[in-house]
Amino acid sequence: MSTTPASRRFDFDLIVIGGGSGGLAAAFRASEYGARVAILEPGELGGTCVNVGCVPKKAMWLAAQLADHVDLARRVGFEVAAPVFDWCEFLTHRQRYVANIHASYRRRLDADGIVTIAARGRLRDACTVETDDGARLSAPHIVIAAGARPQRPGIPGEEHGLVSDDFFRFSAAPARVAVIGGGYIGVELAGVLQALGSRVDQFVRGPRLLEGFDAELAQRLQESCRQAGVQLHLGHAVRALERDGDGRVRVRGDADLADDAFDAVIFATGRRPNSEDLGLDAAGVAVDARGFVIVDDRQNTNVDGLYAVGDITARPALTPVAIAAARRTMDRVFGGQPDARLDYDGIPTVVFSHPPLATVGLNEAQARARHGDAVRAYRADFRPMLHALADTPQRSLFKLVCVGDERRVVGIHLLGDGADEILQGFAVALKRGITLDDLRDTVAIHPTSAEEVVLMR
Ligand SMILES: Cc1cc2nc3c(=O)[nH]c(=O)nc-3n(C[C@H](O)[C@H](O)[C@H](O)COP(=O)(O)OP(=O)(O)OC[C@H]3O[C@@H](n4cnc5c(N)ncnc54)[C@H](O)[C@@H]3O)c2cc1C
Repeated sequence: MSTTPASRRFDFDLIVIGGGSGGLAAAFRASEYGARVAILEPGELGGTCVNVGCVPKKAMWLAAQLADHVDLARRVGFEVAAPVFDWCEFLTHRQRYVANIHASYRRRLDADGIVTIAARGRLRDACTVETDDGARLSAPHIVIAAGARPQRPGIPGEEHGLVSDDFFRFSAAPARVAVIGGGYIGVELAGVLQALGSRVDQFVRGPRLLEGFDAELAQRLQESCRQAGVQLHLGHAVRALERDGDGRVRVRGDADLADDAFDAVIFATGRRPNSEDLGLDAAGVAVDARGFVIVDDRQNTNVDGLYAVGDITARPALTPVAIAAARRTMDRVFGGQPDARLDYDGIPTVVFSHPPLATVGLNEAQARARHGDAVRAYRADFRPMLHALADTPQRSLFKLVCVGDERRVVGIHLLGDGADEILQGFAVALKRGITLDDLRDTVAIHPTSAEEVVLMR
């Protein structure tokens, strides 16, 4: 990118508000094209994902997997004492991992000459950002990547409940935990806590876990959660929280659990965009009724030169989505690629449950709504080898959703050990428009769970 005389009137070519997944990706990509970039981040670099999201969550899930595997080992003949998990020691490993990510971001920002400002930013107009210590910076292009935060449900006593950010401050498993919410964050936190020693009750307002995911897999996951010991209360709206004299919290809802008091109640009841204090009004940027910044299919807001990426938009709230959207926007703005944009179809995702659930494309209900009777679903329902050896009740369920006479694969849904690692390659295949016959033409890798995807009849 060559800096035009016009852009020299500005302090920078690009200002990025927010140093999380999307913001950092935008800053790095723009600077690769030679743009002069400033990024504002008042907190830790890496935002939600690195500090209170994907990374520490996956670390805790891995610890939980180890606990489960100790149990499996015992079942197949290893003599092992009941595992004692030293949560505090694990925190030192988790923090070291996260600190290395912070350090590598810092090194890269310095090496790329990106000006990093440890302050909150607020738009004054479409080209000016004011920091919370009063400095004003200008640029012809601004990326809004301020993310989102956990939302409480607005019920009496909600101040007695915690949110996912608080979970990452735990230094031990609370004895009794209530998780409120049946989305992926609720499922993941409930599973981890149960595996690491808590007794977990999960309250879900709707009739099932994981609304929006394939219903059959969600049903099977519910069985696995119950087998693991999670008390699932489906169709149970929580109406209030009350704190006891001894500091424990009671959950009041459709069916009162009069005898149950919890050491911790965690709300996993959605996330709200950080759009209130950004000066969006001053710049004329439009938001929707829930506060998400409205963007077109190229991340443009309604104001020229202002773009939004990641969780502050109403797009799938996933780190790779924020990153891909940011990179493509910068490819377009600074990289001479006028058509670059993220294709939001066929985005794979994993719920780090026990076992994990991995999904890409349409679930069966969505496919039927769109393609009617042209839809056929294929299933593999099996016991993964380790669980068969250990004689546990856990079963895997893999499902393909196909459309038309050519049986084009429009959805792949995998619930079972290894699903998190298996799906990525098949997501490439789905994006390429493969058919069921393409899968069947592929020689299986035996004995694995993955082979079930190419053996489905
Ligand atoms: C518990 C949990 C688990 C998750 N697990 C996964 C997972 O396994 N896989 C996955 O893909 N995604 C996961 N996510 C989602 C993922 O973390 C987000 O989609 C991703 O972080 C969004 O990136 P972002 O850049 O939009 O926002 P963020 O990463 O939230 O970054 C926004 C940044 O903006 C900063 N900011 C806010 N206001 C201002 C301001 N005025 N000025 C300057 N800076 C500001 C904030 O401090 C923050 O650092 C998880 C989320 C949670 C909560």
